[in-house]
Amino acid sequence: METKRDFLKKLSLLTVGGMVAGSTSPVIASNKNNPASAVKKAIGLQIYSLGKELTDNVPAGMKKIAEIGYSTIELAGYRDRKMGEYEVGAYKKIVDDAGLKITSSHVNPPERKYTKENIAGIAEFWKKTVEDHVKLGVTYLVQPGLPTIETHDDARLVCEVYNNAGEIAKAAGIKWGYHNHNMEFKRIAKPGEAIQTGPMATFRPTGDVIYDLLLDGTDPNLVFFEMDVYWTVMGQTDPLEYFEKYPTRFPLLHIKDRLVLGQSGMMNFENIFNKAYANGLSTYFVEIEKVKAGMTQFEGVKGCYDYLINAPFVK
Ligand code: MG
Repeated sequence: METKRDFLKKLSLLTVGGMVAGSTSPVIASNKNNPASAVKKAIGLQIYSLGKELTDNVPAGMKKIAEIGYSTIELAGYRDRKMGEYEVGAYKKIVDDAGLKITSSHVNPPERKYTKENIAGIAEFWKKTVEDHVKLGVTYLVQPGLPTIETHDDARLVCEVYNNAGEIAKAAGIKWGYHNHNMEFKRIAKPGEAIQTGPMATFRPTGDVIYDLLLDGTDPNLVFFEMDVYWTVMGQTDPLEYFEKYPTRFPLLHIKDRLVLGQSGMMNFENIFNKAYANGLSTYFVEIEKVKAGMTQFEGVKGCYDYLINAPFVK
């Protein structure tokens, strides 16, 4: 027969069980140093990082990316309405079968210099590209290459094309954005003024930063920015200054270093992540170009994953 003591014991067990099931965060918090809890981090990879090691055998490569622990990818290599040698539907199936999600994709239009004469063609390019990316199931579509900007008129036209691409993508439920390298942090002359050159220009720069013209000249409802934090630093610029000034414009980041993440002394990833999270970071993608001699790209990509999975400031 059940005593009052047994009954109370059962009740307290149930309560404890209920609390654990109802509130998972204390459990995760107590497992901070347990690798099993670390798999909850959703880490993305820009597949350009793998180059030929992926394109030589896409199905096997995608499985390898998933095995390392990445959960989502950003594509590179869309061209002529295909992903490499694959039709977009077939490509999506390969990625799905590997258990990965395609969140984003990098695509450049063929034109590098925008003119009044070719912008209608660029709009057509984005319409077809958006159609294909609906089939790929992306949330974000990103242009990673800077068109020619030498004057304020050039910048205005580029912003017009970006806003238009953003509108085309938005109509299909996709967000359109721009990814930087270091040349966006160059300055161009203000209208009617000469730009200062020479050593003093470093200390008292004149002119306008191209990146600022893009941020200020595009509609935040149509164009977001995926900041590549490494290339921003290479442009002699502090990513945090931009996060501070434009807190809502950077839902995506490229997390990149000179080699494997954390191996150089150049990047303060802790400050970058803290500020980006405070601004509501949506997703980030690891990118790696160079690796140390004798290392494969896959080993580099694995090294970056290990760095982030073990970094206490990465959620
Ligand atoms: Mg990048």
